[in-house]
Amino acid sequence: MTRTALSFLVDRKTTCPHAERQAERAGPALAQAEELCRARRVRLTAIRREVLETLYATHKPLGAYEIAERLGTSGRRLAPITVYRALDFLTEQGLAHRLASQNAYIGSFHRDSAPDTVAFLICEACGGVDEASAADLSETVAALLSREGFAPRTKLLEIVGCCAHCR
Ligand SMILES: [Zn+2]
Ligand SMILES: [Zn+2]
Repeated sequence: MTRTALSFLVDRKTTCPHAERQAERAGPALAQAEELCRARRVRLTAIRREVLETLYATHKPLGAYEIAERLGTSGRRLAPITVYRALDFLTEQGLAHRLASQNAYIGSFHRDSAPDTVAFLICEACGGVDEASAADLSETVAALLSREGFAPRTKLLEIVGCCAHCR
């Protein structure tokens, strides 16, 4: 898949502000991901890139099987293990996030190696996911973690509900 092909893949059928914004930022985000992998000297292999493109092509979280189906050609579905391996790489590099509440993945638009607390606002109506962060949220969570002596691997909060434009 080339970058030009990506714009046609973007999910425009369900037009909501999430879908429109995704279409705008998918291309730049992919270019940024390539740069980041070069800088870190890790390989964005063809399959890893294709999985990332698939995630960026929609504003909705995708399960591994859905990704395998979208990437399969002529009725042949990709082996889910192949997709899972690519997803492991992408989440390790911070290029994708796994949303535990949805058992699904989204492409990340955050680029920090040690990100502050991020709240994912997941809309059940349109499927849109917003990443929100705030300095005082991060400070509060950091204080709570230190009080509990807890070492976080990720600091992702998932809030499920209905977004502003769907309400
Ligand atoms: Zn939406
Ligand atoms: Zn919505």
